[in-house]
Amino acid sequence: MNIPFPAAFAKRVTEDPFLGKELLEALDSKPPVSVRFHPIKQASELEIAASVPWCDRAFYLKERPSFTLDPLFHAGSYYPQEAGSMVLATVLNALNLPENPRILDLCAAPGGKSTLIASFLKNEGLLVSNEVIQPRARILKENLTKWGFTNTVVTNNDPKDFERLPHFFNAIVVDAPCSGEGMFRKDTKARQEWSEENVQLCAARQKRIVMDVWDSLLPGGFLIYSTCTFNPTENEDTVSWFLNELGAELLPMSLSDSMQAGRNEIGNYCIPGITESEGFYIAVLQKSDDSIGKNRFTRKNDFHWQKDLLDLGNFSNLENITVFNWNDKLLALPKGQEDAMLHVQSQLRLQKMGTTLGEIARKGVIPNEELALNPFLLNYSGKIEVELKQALSYLHGDTFSLSGKQGFQLITFQKEPLGWVKHLGNRFNNLYPKEWRIRMNVD
Ligand code: SAM
Repeated sequence: MNIPFPAAFAKRVTEDPFLGKELLEALDSKPPVSVRFHPIKQASELEIAASVPWCDRAFYLKERPSFTLDPLFHAGSYYPQEAGSMVLATVLNALNLPENPRILDLCAAPGGKSTLIASFLKNEGLLVSNEVIQPRARILKENLTKWGFTNTVVTNNDPKDFERLPHFFNAIVVDAPCSGEGMFRKDTKARQEWSEENVQLCAARQKRIVMDVWDSLLPGGFLIYSTCTFNPTENEDTVSWFLNELGAELLPMSLSDSMQAGRNEIGNYCIPGITESEGFYIAVLQKSDDSIGKNRFTRKNDFHWQKDLLDLGNFSNLENITVFNWNDKLLALPKGQEDAMLHVQSQLRLQKMGTTLGEIARKGVIPNEELALNPFLLNYSGKIEVELKQALSYLHGDTFSLSGKQGFQLITFQKEPLGWVKHLGNRFNNLYPKEWRIRMNVD
């Protein structure tokens, strides 16, 4: 039995000629399940129903499987994501971005949009992925580590802190916290949390968030604003307020035949019942080119860390990266992005930057899980391929009997690396991070 809709919500939707009671019917039906595949990792054998028309390598599934019990989910082979959100791919492709753009995903946890942006950037340019709430920032770091791109930085900051990076980004994605009317389909409990006052509070917060980061956007840069709600207060009205207050320009976007232009043609919607999705709103604004002060980020070469190009060729492909020794952690940053990344880390609270290749220990380098999951850098032949049962035991943190050479070995499932073990001959040490382990029974 579905929890009933809040009366004020049902009344508003029914009386809104833009929505109508069909939306309520759609919100009471089963939500679609969709995933987006990693651009180069091994594709999982999921039961696909149809492709998502507005995003590459994205599919609706016939049923919702147990993702936790699929090792390739942990390997970062795909990301389960609401289909409407994936329209960000079409938006990014339509923008006139420079080469190697710097993109900020401001409200990024758990990481759906960030993994999509990383795939779009193809390891070029820079993605700063931020989440203000600390435990959520940790989940964001885990998901981006599993997605395995080198050009990403994860931060845990309040939007206001971005004033320390004036005129820095070519695009900022604000997937704003909202009243979540689109969640009413998947999570009917969300219906109990909705109120008219909360809609107003969310709209005020959305304005504050965008105002806080506006100065970080370069002149001519793009602000992509999105919510998963249907009311004009948090969508068209908020965007109109940005247009008036910030002197920005609205970019008209034609995204997909099954999507609908917003009220007064402001932004675009995926509306359940019309678009196969839970519900999504997106609008794109461009900052005027004549805003005062061009790129205020200047290249500096005063690194605080010892630049230490160690011979890590044993484990990884060193082309296109610079390796730094940061407190005995060997950190790979993409060539050309070192200054920008170091500048970001000097201004913000860092969770992750580039890819940690390994740690320098007394007896040599201990490889890190970030390297195991980065398909662009990993270049190591010591692999042990395991079956499903062993893969799940490994992800559970267990040890079991396993034949293989002594030393560091990668555990792979269907050829996709899951993480490291240190093989000691008759037994092995499981190096899979404790905080990522599957907690449910896997026997
Ligand atoms: N972009 C994410 C994705 O695709 O996986 C979903 C983001 S969710 C809609 C909004 C995020 O904003 C949440 O992670 C939430 O913690 C964060 N948030 C909440 N209050 C915030 C605030 N005042 N400023 C910035 N972000 C906030």
